[in-house]
Amino acid sequence: MREDLGYRSYAKQALAGEPPSRAAALALLRAPDEHLREILLAAFAVRKRHFGSRVKLCMLRNARSGMCAEDCHYCSQSVGSTAAIDSYRLQRTDELITGAREAAARGARRYCMAVSGRGPSASDIAHLAATVRAIKAEFPMLEICLSLGIMDEDQARALKSAGVGWVNHNLNTSERFYPSVCTTHAYADRIRTVLAVKRAGLSICCGGIVGMGESDDDIVDVAFALREIGVDSLPVNFLQPIDGTQLEGATSITPAKGLKALCLFRFSNPASDVRAAGGRERNLGPWQGLALYPASSIFIEGYLTTPGLAAEPTRRMVEALGFSVEHEEDVGAGRPATFGGYA
Ligand code: SF4
Repeated sequence: MREDLGYRSYAKQALAGEPPSRAAALALLRAPDEHLREILLAAFAVRKRHFGSRVKLCMLRNARSGMCAEDCHYCSQSVGSTAAIDSYRLQRTDELITGAREAAARGARRYCMAVSGRGPSASDIAHLAATVRAIKAEFPMLEICLSLGIMDEDQARALKSAGVGWVNHNLNTSERFYPSVCTTHAYADRIRTVLAVKRAGLSICCGGIVGMGESDDDIVDVAFALREIGVDSLPVNFLQPIDGTQLEGATSITPAKGLKALCLFRFSNPASDVRAAGGRERNLGPWQGLALYPASSIFIEGYLTTPGLAAEPTRRMVEALGFSVEHEEDVGAGRPATFGGYA
């Protein structure tokens, strides 16, 4: 019989709709690595209730790269970064449609377009709304997510009426630690955008980054803040220190720590679509498949300015571990495509 190290109680609580206490959350992050298998199995029980064994593949496109006046210390697109990246203006509609076709051809269920900068202009919104209408005309079932920075409710409403389903805007870290990773905008600005997006009736994709030098308390704060907001999608990024950024010298987390953090986000946000996001390959290495125990979505073909695992090996990894890639026809079979959190 499998040894019970006490982690089943996390699953039981999550399945009953209760978050772990702060003490329990911290204990999870600090658990001995030898306990990881039990922690993952407990997180899997929660993931299974809400998502079965399905894995949503997401493909990200950097629709405008670089030239951003904000100073997010982790970001290679910040004006303060000397990282060697391609910089370019907002891509044309035909280029973004090509990206949607590539995403659909690779089996992605969600196509995420990210635009560098503090926030979108009126012309950015108009351009992206027209682009999304064209994409939805060709791929009505492809989920569309936009990541545009700080925005207001009217901008979010315009995107929703064009067919956008999700807006991504991450909290990234705790309110306490936020000034250590960005000085040009505040945690409160991020909360304001997230709430405006929700009021506009869009689903919110909002998560964090682990490995920026934050404390365990900071990770717990983010997990609990996301629960309070009630986020539909919850990307968990693992810092990939990029040469030329202010966090280039950050110490990487261990794969076990990254996986425990993912499990904490799952226990705290049981019905959210927890996504193993940027830095998965670099930080989790050969353990990355274990991320599927807590996570229900993963990315294919890389991130904004860093490469990642291609679609085919990702699919093989998913299937080799006994999970299955989500298809269009799965929508509605187990859960609605859009679902409320706790708010
Ligand atoms: S994360 Fe976004 S807002 Fe911050 S520097 Fe990068 S592109 Fe700019």
